[in-house]
Amino acid sequence: MDVSHILDDLNEAQREAVSAPAGSTLVLAGAGSGKTRVLVHRIAWLTGVAGATPWSVLAVTFTNKAAREMRHRIEHLLGQPVGGMWVGTFHGLAHRLLRAHWQEAGLPKAFQILDSDDQHRLIKRLIREMNLDDSKWPPRQAQWFINSQKDEGRRAQHLDDGGDHYQRQMIAIYRAYQEACERSGAVDFAELLLRAHELLRDRTDILHHYRERFAHILVDEFQDTNSIQYAWLRLLSGERNNLFVVGDDDQSIYGWRGAKVENIRHFQRDFPKTAMVRLEQNYRSTANILQASNAVISNNPSRLGKNLWTEDKDGDPVRVYAAFNEVDEARFVIGRISDAIDSGHRRTDVAILYRTSAQSRLFEEALLQAGIPYRVYGGLRFFERAEIKDALAYMRLVSNRDSDPAFERAVNQPPRGIGPRTLDAVRAHARDFGCSMWHAMEELLAGGSMAARAANALKGFVEVIEELQLETTDMQLADLTAQVLNRSRLPEHFKKSRDGKGQDRIENLEELVNAARQFDGISMGSDSIDLPGTEINSSTPGSIESDPIEMSELDAFLSHAALEAGDTQAGEHEESVQLMTLHSAKGLEFPLIFIGGMEEGLFPHSMSSDDPERLEEERRLCYVGMTRAMEQLYLCHAESRRLHGSDSYPMPSRFLREIPPDLVEEIRSRPDVSRPVITPAGGFNMAEETTGFRLGQRVAHPKFGEGVVLNAEGQGSSARVQVNFEAAGAKWLVVAYANLQAV
Ligand code: ATP
Ligand code: MG
Repeated sequence: MDVSHILDDLNEAQREAVSAPAGSTLVLAGAGSGKTRVLVHRIAWLTGVAGATPWSVLAVTFTNKAAREMRHRIEHLLGQPVGGMWVGTFHGLAHRLLRAHWQEAGLPKAFQILDSDDQHRLIKRLIREMNLDDSKWPPRQAQWFINSQKDEGRRAQHLDDGGDHYQRQMIAIYRAYQEACERSGAVDFAELLLRAHELLRDRTDILHHYRERFAHILVDEFQDTNSIQYAWLRLLSGERNNLFVVGDDDQSIYGWRGAKVENIRHFQRDFPKTAMVRLEQNYRSTANILQASNAVISNNPSRLGKNLWTEDKDGDPVRVYAAFNEVDEARFVIGRISDAIDSGHRRTDVAILYRTSAQSRLFEEALLQAGIPYRVYGGLRFFERAEIKDALAYMRLVSNRDSDPAFERAVNQPPRGIGPRTLDAVRAHARDFGCSMWHAMEELLAGGSMAARAANALKGFVEVIEELQLETTDMQLADLTAQVLNRSRLPEHFKKSRDGKGQDRIENLEELVNAARQFDGISMGSDSIDLPGTEINSSTPGSIESDPIEMSELDAFLSHAALEAGDTQAGEHEESVQLMTLHSAKGLEFPLIFIGGMEEGLFPHSMSSDDPERLEEERRLCYVGMTRAMEQLYLCHAESRRLHGSDSYPMPSRFLREIPPDLVEEIRSRPDVSRPVITPAGGFNMAEETTGFRLGQRVAHPKFGEGVVLNAEGQGSSARVQVNFEAAGAKWLVVAYANLQAV
């Protein structure tokens, strides 16, 4: 095989990394310098040149999509498939391990994955059952507490309350939660990692097997690994010193979720013979974009520091648009996107990034109006929709009656007359006898002490699930799914719904049958089960590995639904503009990038403005966003913004001020912009006709100085305008008395 091209198209430093001798290697380099490219070429080098088998390679990426992409690129470089290689996310790989060794991990065979919404509901219920006031003990806080303990590798029994009441209560919730999970055979995301770690730690035979097998472990985006993930890597690597990690401390953006950027520093301590490679040439962005990004990140005091340059031309300046409100911002962005498409750009060249997902709605509306196809990447995932989760709950119960979260969800959806008192009785029985709710219900029914109406309603539910089980035993997944819809009567239920979303929900349920059919196709067509983030290639005789993964198609599908990270959505193949949060843009690149909401309070987010560490993380996020751009970068802020139902008049983000002015072209909102305002009489009217001022117009007031008109209402003598004054902030003024002058 001619493999010389594996080193072609690489610069000197990249070649050094790709062909580094065995031993641990750390590639520390800035955005767009080819880290991911180096990782892919390294794998191709190992298998194509250095004689490693694909079977001995474990590669960890950040998303399932990145994993698929990586495999594809390696196969392209080598010109042949590389079956048997483990490429996936930490969660996907942990899941793979636990499925293969469920018994050793102390899990039921059909263990099920709780997504974060399921987890939240369960915690909320437990808090109520513990007779705690959930305004004092908010479920979100408890959820955060539990997950961060797990991310640090700590079980409830390891925790000491130190005499602190808050801590004691949180530990009690953690313990109750874990017991509930054990009873229903449920595993949350953090548990996947923790339990896989414990499995490797406590079962030396299994650990040895995987240590033997994985002679090469490679990790992308290493700066965002948390404690348990790093512990995992160290355990798997053992004495072999076979870790090849790439990362950028300036792009660590998951500290709030437990990621430890210190892992980069510790790496050299923990693996003393580490070869360190720095890549300094950026191949992604124009010089202006790169310089602007470098300038912003240089304001962070605690950096490892690096020097990033490009041979690329200066390119266009970074464009900063001051919108007068969020509607104007969306209008501007979509206008520029239309222009770009008209001048030959593809829709897939463009991404709109924002700090919080609530910001996507206005962009979506403007795109819809303009008739431009778009896709929200990592938005509400198909499998997270309420109606889909309802149907999945039935499927979970068919697979595992003991799943309490599924029981809670399905038992009275659609409503079948099971009242809260009946359910409380079931919960209490389950708690008292330490059994699942399904089991408790059966015992209560058998005991005959229930009121006839309640008992009949519950029996109706039991029948639905049991019949489903009987009917579907030998069915293909898609037929099984269709039968679940049929028996559960969910579509009929949504047909009757009056919230205007019924039809949508029914269509989504039908789409679930399609999803099952496609899933069906994947796993039936080959000898492997396609799990998220991992490609499973079964049997290699004579090893632990060779145990076929004993998982029904139904369980594989349910795991897929829980783990699928929103990066395979319906319509993915369509040529469309991409919308995503700054967090989910990590690792990606687009010719045109628009970042919306560059405002104090939104970005940097208000939660971080008085915490220096979190502020640094926000700045890194800004750096990540800006460095996604290859050719053009637009940064937008609005002078007024309505978000979550309230208005604010934010200052432009400090990050904008950190960009040297000579790299920036400022664009102000067009003075003729006006938007319809609703008059008290109920009709639409233009601001100018009713108040004499246009929205967005600059005006001067004798006392408050200059400002911009944001809003208008009323007419005649009661006409009022809202003006955002530079010094005095936003004020409503009656036009007839305010003596406002246009400037
Ligand atoms: P990030 O920090 O954003 O994850 P990265 O360091 O992983 O970025 P890559 O995504 O690997 O960078 O590379 C950035 C871009 O530069 C890609 O389009 C890649 O193909 C290109 N590139 C990297 N190295 C070279 C090279 N030697 N020659 C030409 N193009 C290159
Ligand atoms: Mg990368």
